[in-house]
Amino acid sequence: MSRHRKNKYKLKELAACHQSPREDISPIPSTQTNPMTNTTARSTIEKKLISSYQRHLASSSTDDIEESSSSDDEGTSVDLDEYSDVNLIANIQNILFLGNAMNCSKCNVNGEYNFKVTKRLGLSYYISFTCSCGNVIRLSTGNRISSSTKTQMTDLNMLGVLAGSLVGIHRRGIQKFFGAMGILPPVQIEYYKCYEDLLHKSIEKVAEKSKETAADEARKYYNSNDITVSIDGTWLTQGFSSLHRVGTILSVADPPKVLDHEVSSRHCSECAGLLAVKDSDGELYSQLLEEHLKCSCEAMVAMFGRSVAKHNLRYTAYIADGDTRNHINITQSKPYGELSIERKQCINHFSKRMRTRLSCIKKKYGRTYLSDNKTIGGKGRLDDAKIYRLQVYFGKAIRDNNNDLEKMKQAAWAAWFHMVSTDKSPLHDLCEPGHCKLYLDFDYEHESHSLPPAVCDAIKPAYDDLCRDESLQQVLHGRTTNANESFHRIIWSLCTKKKKHIRKCVQIATNLATIIYNEGFIGLISIYKSLGISINAALLKMLKKIDHKRIKENRPLDPANCLKQRRKRRFIRLEKENKATQNDPYKYGAGISG
Ligand SMILES: [Zn+2]
Ligand SMILES: [Zn+2]
Ligand SMILES: [Zn+2]
Repeated sequence: MSRHRKNKYKLKELAACHQSPREDISPIPSTQTNPMTNTTARSTIEKKLISSYQRHLASSSTDDIEESSSSDDEGTSVDLDEYSDVNLIANIQNILFLGNAMNCSKCNVNGEYNFKVTKRLGLSYYISFTCSCGNVIRLSTGNRISSSTKTQMTDLNMLGVLAGSLVGIHRRGIQKFFGAMGILPPVQIEYYKCYEDLLHKSIEKVAEKSKETAADEARKYYNSNDITVSIDGTWLTQGFSSLHRVGTILSVADPPKVLDHEVSSRHCSECAGLLAVKDSDGELYSQLLEEHLKCSCEAMVAMFGRSVAKHNLRYTAYIADGDTRNHINITQSKPYGELSIERKQCINHFSKRMRTRLSCIKKKYGRTYLSDNKTIGGKGRLDDAKIYRLQVYFGKAIRDNNNDLEKMKQAAWAAWFHMVSTDKSPLHDLCEPGHCKLYLDFDYEHESHSLPPAVCDAIKPAYDDLCRDESLQQVLHGRTTNANESFHRIIWSLCTKKKKHIRKCVQIATNLATIIYNEGFIGLISIYKSLGISINAALLKMLKKIDHKRIKENRPLDPANCLKQRRKRRFIRLEKENKATQNDPYKYGAGISG
């Protein structure tokens, strides 16, 4: 099948989806604390995009989108509709050639034109072609937008600024890009700022609308104005001299969507040397860090405080990672009067605690001998692979028994008893037959799988503590903050962590990311509409292509290879995380990610 045909097929597929609008509305859960999960094979992104395409394409004035967007990249097939409103990059000599090929309407001679650029506004040119007889033809590229502002703005320049924001480059980056293509630089810096401001306003408006829609969906999902959300924050560190933090609140629904976010920026010369201070004066460091962290709590408190006014919703329960600072602040601010707000731990963060505890224990014992006259580490003892496996078992125990505290506790302990088992005293009563090798293999040998009793005794305190009722209670009916994390990834893809950004750029990136996360790339057409820029076939085609690609990349795993694929993905993720932690020790430090 050629690429052309395949592409067409995919578009048809989506078109079919948006012809049956009522089919995909997720079931409304029966209870507030335990939302029923929709178990269809559709990925979260796919679910989101289907409803988004219904909305955006239904309101789009462009007819026959399917047909006009069917040809391929290089245009092997000529499609008049697609080219009828396409933007071109042309050399001015080509245009002159065209003019000279035609007879002058006045003197009826051809080939006599001279041209002069009378004005240039970034990408927009005002050119007059003068015939030797004196006849003048004027050409301008780009159309004026937003007649209300004093400065002359054209759609081409706005497209440049918007495109720059979408790929995470600003004026200097655009200048470089244009320069390499033989195009003169974008509008001057002060005009560029005007464009940016107008774009910012427009993106913000569209993002607000998107968050409103998300709030309505959450209300429908919970059948109530009291909903569960997941909260998290992410930093853009810049050696602590300029620091932006984005606090995010997403609905815990199917699919999850962004309900609110807040950018807090601190420009603090005092903290510029924070990293240096860390080594010389630990106390001063933690004091300064505390000040930085305060703003993150303020943002969360503000977002909880405005939830009723903004969305007519109360965030009565929330999922968060280990940081308790937010909880204290949110609870103290009493956003909903005397109504208490329930805090749940993110399952992933919680299960990582097992690894932290075990690593601590290992470090604590170090070279000292245990009761069997050997150290805690070494071959067949508590090595990193074992620690990782115990963490995985712990996480699995929580996930698999999410709604039953007693079962969760048993499953969590099962791993320890499994490890302490020997051929003489097998303790697999708690083990789940499907997972424990003893039940699968008659010749099961304990020695190669279990941990020596002395090591088990040493790590038991970790289990004693983490498997307490009060401890596991925190993840009962728990969820993860994964949705927040994927939203954060979109933000930083638009606003790379490696570069310095001003607050406005972070705000633009966050709002753009909201639209992309909630609606898919097709949601961006609302920005074009609000700016008064016409949407052409090429744009629609590009947006759809990106969305299709995202659906494809996020296809639910094939059940046959599910485990293998998931392991591979996890491995890649852990590798990345490890690298990130090494390069950026403050990002993942205790409490900072909260
Ligand atoms: Zn003439
Ligand atoms: Zn500071
Ligand atoms: Zn077992």
